Amino acid sequence: MYEKETICVHPARCPETGYGAIATPIYQSATFVHEGLDKESEYSYSRLQNPTRAALEARVAELEGGVDAIAFASGMAAEATLMNLFESNGHVIAGDDLYGGTLRLFRQVSTPAGIRFDFTDTTVPENIRMCLQPDTKAIYVETPSNPTMQVTDIAAVAKIAHAVGALLIVDNTFLSPIFQRPLELGADIVVHSGTKYLGGHNDTLAGFLVVKKQEIAEKLRYYAKTIGAGLAPFDCFLLERGIKTLAVRLEKQAVNAEKIAHWLRQRPEVRKVYYIGFTDHPGYAVTRRQCSGFGGMLSMEVDSPDTARKLLREVKLFQYAESLGGVDSLITYPMCQTHADVPEAERLKRGINDRFLRISVGIENANDLIFDLKQALEA
Ligand SMILES: *Cc1c(COP(=O)(O)O)cnc(C)c1O
Repeated sequence: MYEKETICVHPARCPETGYGAIATPIYQSATFVHEGLDKESEYSYSRLQNPTRAALEARVAELEGGVDAIAFASGMAAEATLMNLFESNGHVIAGDDLYGGTLRLFRQVSTPAGIRFDFTDTTVPENIRMCLQPDTKAIYVETPSNPTMQVTDIAAVAKIAHAVGALLIVDNTFLSPIFQRPLELGADIVVHSGTKYLGGHNDTLAGFLVVKKQEIAEKLRYYAKTIGAGLAPFDCFLLERGIKTLAVRLEKQAVNAEKIAHWLRQRPEVRKVYYIGFTDHPGYAVTRRQCSGFGGMLSMEVDSPDTARKLLREVKLFQYAESLGGVDSLITYPMCQTHADVPEAERLKRGINDRFLRISVGIENANDLIFDLKQALEA
């Protein structure tokens, strides 16, 4: 078994590409000719499966250490398909600091469909134990969480989940399999917004469900083919291409983020920096245990809404845009973007106020990025 950097480029199950093509061809075909009566070919119809998608899924499954991975048109498509496992009266315990779109799905779509949710601070495993009900079907966590970088102990929560026969689902978008492999720590399903680090270039949307057990993979494949939100062949090609450089991108992004986090921390205009690589981060011990890197994400609270607005206005390299994980550095205002739909009181309780900014660090030169923040703060 090779290391992750090698798997990014050479997955074990290399797809059949034909003509010796090194890059997986884009099989832009909706349907496939049957070999004969009673003799179906491997592929029949691209809603079910497509050779380009199959190659990408094999690569992602191997990187996360799952038996199977299913590629979707977006992270939200993956999550919406996943929730079908729990519909008609299941109970799910979810973190209270999730991606805004995930919260909206759970509250506005999955709840009316019959799933009962309890939201709790999953950084304290005991909170989860207190929410358990006889029909708890799953525990859903995001670690580190978006955007306040809270860390949940995956192995501890897996024990709680498995003691009652529930599944542990981990959104691994922020660290990617390069720095965190939840299935190895006891999780049953990993969720990805492939739009972020896996794609890595802010040029396409994608989502994944990676599964540890075949039985669950089969159920999810049934929902996936029935709902039909699979990733299109061209986007599969872009994701495969992106993943080849995942390890090198993340290494650079992590080094840059660490420098920027430490620099921001000593600025007088910055009140608080949320970064999992600080030794005094409350989740630092857990992070050291369950992650092999700190990733490229950080958030901060500045001293006034004016400073926040000035930064967003004056940055030249950083771009004021939603999303994260790509090669270009982005800065967002979660209050107005990713978390605009989260009720205000709840948002403020978590510190997502009008002074709170989130940064996705790219692969540019770290000093150039720091200089950009400096000139914006001093403008
Ligand atoms: C972006 C994101 C999602 C949703 O993914 P899309 O690809 O935008 O649909 C889910 N979880 C996290 C942590 C995200 O950052």
